[in-house]
Amino acid sequence: MSQKVTLVGGGLAGSLLAIFLAKKGFKVSIYEKRPDMRGSDYEGGRSINLALSERGLRALRKLGLDKEVLDIGIPMRGRMMHDLQGQLKYQPYGHDGQAIYSVSRGLLNIKLLQMADSMENIEMFFDHDCTGVNLEKAETSYTNKAGEPVEDKADWVIATDGAYSAVRKAFQTSGRFNYEQKYEEHGYKELEILANAEGDFAMNKNCLHIWPRKSFMMIALPNPDATFTCTVFMPFKGDPGFDDLKTRSEIEAFVTEQFPDAVPVMPNVLDDFEKNPVGSLVTIRTFPWLRGKTALLGDSAHAIVPFYGQGMNCCFEDCSDLDFCLGETDNNMMEALEMYQERRVKNANAIADLALKNFTEMRDWVGQPEFLARKAIEHDLSELYKDEYKAQYELVTFADVTYKEAWDRGFENDRLIDRIIEDKLESKIADRPFMLRLFKEYLS
Ligand SMILES: Cc1cc2nc3c(=O)[nH]c(=O)nc-3n(C[C@H](O)[C@H](O)[C@H](O)COP(=O)(O)OP(=O)(O)OC[C@H]3O[C@@H](n4cnc5c(N)ncnc54)[C@H](O)[C@@H]3O)c2cc1C
Repeated sequence: MSQKVTLVGGGLAGSLLAIFLAKKGFKVSIYEKRPDMRGSDYEGGRSINLALSERGLRALRKLGLDKEVLDIGIPMRGRMMHDLQGQLKYQPYGHDGQAIYSVSRGLLNIKLLQMADSMENIEMFFDHDCTGVNLEKAETSYTNKAGEPVEDKADWVIATDGAYSAVRKAFQTSGRFNYEQKYEEHGYKELEILANAEGDFAMNKNCLHIWPRKSFMMIALPNPDATFTCTVFMPFKGDPGFDDLKTRSEIEAFVTEQFPDAVPVMPNVLDDFEKNPVGSLVTIRTFPWLRGKTALLGDSAHAIVPFYGQGMNCCFEDCSDLDFCLGETDNNMMEALEMYQERRVKNANAIADLALKNFTEMRDWVGQPEFLARKAIEHDLSELYKDEYKAQYELVTFADVTYKEAWDRGFENDRLIDRIIEDKLESKIADRPFMLRLFKEYLS
């Protein structure tokens, strides 16, 4: 079998998908707009980082790549909340040391590209910007570094060129294509916490740190060089808002008041705040993902806000699901892509909704009493009934259930907790026979 698949985009989804397809015997060409990341200064270890969790790891495990990737990851076993006085509150993510992993986006991408490059049926072209696609004929056009046009013909094209996909533009003008794009009023800006004077981590490195401030928040994930990459999520307009924080004195007053325990280890915070751009947060939903001989995968099909740390994990699951569909259809790409889009779209929509919901939750940790009471009940249920009760976060992050199932089971959990609160049953949570009867009523 020597069908050729062209992947437009050699980011996280593209580089992983290439390996899956090559292992199935397809010839794969990756065309990537950016220069080759390998050999750049990414190797230094400091960069934007991402939370990798069980779903992403499952996909990597299928290819035997999980251990190598975990070598560059730092386990985060819980959230550490920082209040306005700099006091800390820790909440474990799961049971028995379950963790999500802070991984450098650049290093992960490089690792996947290196692995792809070592396979003889994968070829890669960098500095190739996709400028057009014929969806029915699997033909793509590019402009290379020298500004010259380049044409490619394949049996199949899969778009892995991210949230602002060039390939998707052809879907949008091809008729009967559903496309929804919604921007949040919040944007994000990256800052940095440096290592302490001893060259060590300035805060606990095995946590995802959160400064929840209701209308905005900052999070920080550890890097291998003992720094943390921080991300401030805040409205563009508002009080506070990125648009209104202009002068150095305004920025200084803001960060000193809001992040008092972090600022002493952020010596460059004013420069970073002025210099670093504000990114937009967008949810993109599309369907269908297959037209003619061209398909969408990863962020090109579904971009989500980053509050569940699942965007890349979902893209990796896309890749492993397409691999599963190829297995089920004896490598019939058309049938496999049809099966993949049916299986995935409801899950992509579910994680998009979950990510939006989690944004409100993360900000609300600031102290809505009712919200905190619900979380305390949920925590007790999770601890006491490890086999019977799974919190939604656990279902999304650690369990082997679909995103759609995690979304639906979250509603069942909510109804159960509503009942516990309404009937004041908190004191009966440890009463196992009673609770198992209640679970039967609510958790299907
Ligand atoms: C602030 C932020 C934080 C995030 N944190 C997390 C997290 O903690 N955990 C998590 O799981 N996910 C996270 N995500 C989501 C994650 O980054 C994305 O879901 C993931 O990168 C999508 O992978 P992709 O390969 O589909 O797209 P991308 O990673 O965007 O890769 C697309 C590739 O296509 C290339 N390309 C684009 N246009 C063209 C063109 N015209 N021609 C050729 N090539 C092209 C690009 O250069 C790029 O290499 C976060 C996202 C953001 C914005």
